[in-house]
Amino acid sequence: MSLLMKPCCECCGTATLPEATNALICSFECTFCKKCAALMNSVCPNCRGTLVARPTRAAHLLDRHPVSTKREVKSNGCDANEV
Ligand SMILES: [Zn+2]
Ligand SMILES: [Zn+2]
Repeated sequence: MSLLMKPCCECCGTATLPEATNALICSFECTFCKKCAALMNSVCPNCRGTLVARPTRAAHLLDRHPVSTKREVKSNGCDANEV
């Protein structure tokens, strides 16, 4: 099994491309962009787990190991104002 590599931030829908370094994930692969993760103090709003920088996937591996294209964005976003 490889990482799902979700295509966008669950909060704001910002694209988190496989080669981009702006994505953070928790252990359940909830995916957030750097900006939202910072607002949430690097804590996943879904499971309260720690968000860490997602590793990138090299472009030459994407053919054999394609990333997820299913966009999952919370309808009401993440409550980034809650501290
Ligand atoms: Zn975001
Ligand atoms: Zn999570």
